[in-house]
Amino acid sequence: GRALPPLAALSQVLRLERSRRTAIVLPLQKLERYLAPGTDTAPFRLFQPGLAALQRAEALFRSDRGHPIDYVSSAVRMDHAPPPALPEVCFIGRSNVGKSSLIRALFSLAPEVEVRVSKTPGHTKKMNFFKVGKYFTLVDMPGYGYHAPQDFVEMVEAYLQERHNLKRTFLLVDGVVGLQKTDHIAVEMLEEFGIPYVMVLTKIDRASRGLLLKNVLEIQEFVKENTQGCFPQLFLVSSVEFSGVHLLRCFVAHVTGNLPTVEAS
Ligand code: GDP
Repeated sequence: GRALPPLAALSQVLRLERSRRTAIVLPLQKLERYLAPGTDTAPFRLFQPGLAALQRAEALFRSDRGHPIDYVSSAVRMDHAPPPALPEVCFIGRSNVGKSSLIRALFSLAPEVEVRVSKTPGHTKKMNFFKVGKYFTLVDMPGYGYHAPQDFVEMVEAYLQERHNLKRTFLLVDGVVGLQKTDHIAVEMLEEFGIPYVMVLTKIDRASRGLLLKNVLEIQEFVKENTQGCFPQLFLVSSVEFSGVHLLRCFVAHVTGNLPTVEAS
């Protein structure tokens, strides 16, 4: 098979020295010691699985003959979506937030999976469905922009409102620039629909520690004060360094009901 990117697998991460390892597996914990005393860190630890749970989750993301991981189909309308047979998660975010890179990183242990990108402006924006064995489906929603066409908005809204097997929505936010106007529009939509979602901060390798801390604390405060449906713990990821990717796999496994008990680290 093709060579895996470094740190795509936990076994590779475990060979690192302790502090590097923590930075990759639990990026929030790594930031914690730079916080002012008295800062509320409870939201940092709501989901903090131990190695055993991380390993069980990783097994779900590793394809083999008896456990295929495949791109299934694309849809431009809800009636083109595959039957809602399995628990599902979807990933949304504005164009260029790092969504395809993150999905590629999540599926890096199944190198045959092709995460398609439709970057060409004007190219039809589709929802792409991926099936992870008999366990869950993952949907790559088209990137939204400031001037999203109405049919696109309608497709995304219909999906979020009607998809009964949707267990969690992952809203990607650029970790370097923080919440933008379009992200606020997405939050308002998710709040209005009353569906559970999680915020994922992307490209954390590109933010200095100070900037990342500032963005994390600001967004955490925003979530606490202004949202009902957002999970209070932020997920920090770098698709280049694989930080937070293992933890995110574990959370996806958990919310799709495939990892009912997660023992804390
Ligand atoms: P999408 O439009 O949301 O699918 O975004 P892409 O995944 O195509 O990423 C947009 C740009 O950001 C590309 O140039 C990527 O190489 C870059 N990028 C994505 N994720 C990361 C990351 O974790 N770290 C860094 N440094 N760059 C990233």
